Amino acid sequence: MKVRLAEESGFCFGVKKALDRIRDISKDDVYVLGKLIHNPQVIEELKKSGVRFVEDIDEVNSGTLVISAHGVSDDVIVKAKEKGLEVIDTTCPLVKNVHNITKRLDDEGYRVIIFGDKKHTEVKGIKGNLKDPVIISDYSEIKELPDGKYALVSQTTQDVGKFIWISEELKKRFGDLVVSDTICSATKLRQESAERLAKEVELMIVIGGYNSANTKRLADICKGIVETKHIEKEDELKKEWFSDKENIGVTAGASTPESVIKKVIDKINKK
Ligand code: SF4
Repeated sequence: MKVRLAEESGFCFGVKKALDRIRDISKDDVYVLGKLIHNPQVIEELKKSGVRFVEDIDEVNSGTLVISAHGVSDDVIVKAKEKGLEVIDTTCPLVKNVHNITKRLDDEGYRVIIFGDKKHTEVKGIKGNLKDPVIISDYSEIKELPDGKYALVSQTTQDVGKFIWISEELKKRFGDLVVSDTICSATKLRQESAERLAKEVELMIVIGGYNSANTKRLADICKGIVETKHIEKEDELKKEWFSDKENIGVTAGASTPESVIKKVIDKINKK
């Protein structure tokens, strides 16, 4: 059996930078707002080392507040500073870029449409800076949109093909629609290389948190091409998946550590 890892997979530079930063700081009185990354194993490891995770800034009254790679809206940073908290901002520069673009469009009078997941921290952060944004995960959700001056952006980890399709459909209705492709380069490279590999194997194993948006997207792309299993760790692998297969492909989301990928590949090789 031959096991191949996608050329681009696992930790992206934004997640790696955020993790390096938090591992560097002393753990006394350190609170991370929301999920630092969507990976349960890494979150567990940090919790064991003393880092605390909170969902709302109101839960923190002293110490250091770490902003995750997904970012937050400006008012959260202002509030943290007013509370006297030390703020360590690990927002990925590519997420910051989306904040800058959308704030500028908002100031120029555009109603910003965000293609993304309403419940995702990144989307909430972008939305929080804007006057009246529209958040959509599918074109069907904007069929009833009234005439107006619109601009379209994307959550950084969305599906590239779906974003292109939505922008083309929207342009048919709003000829002067401004489109900013804000899907990040790491996401694009991971999706492209997963798609390439899925076309060459009989089974794809996609590794990453079940709550990781970019991992779910990789699994969806692969499922459209070949039999695909989404797992979080090696002990979920089942012997029967591999019984009649010779070529196996492996990929992993941007928040999956190299150590987890290695354990999965080692275990497949033993099957
Ligand atoms: S997925 Fe992209 S935007 Fe998100 S942290 Fe990684 S590099 Fe940054």
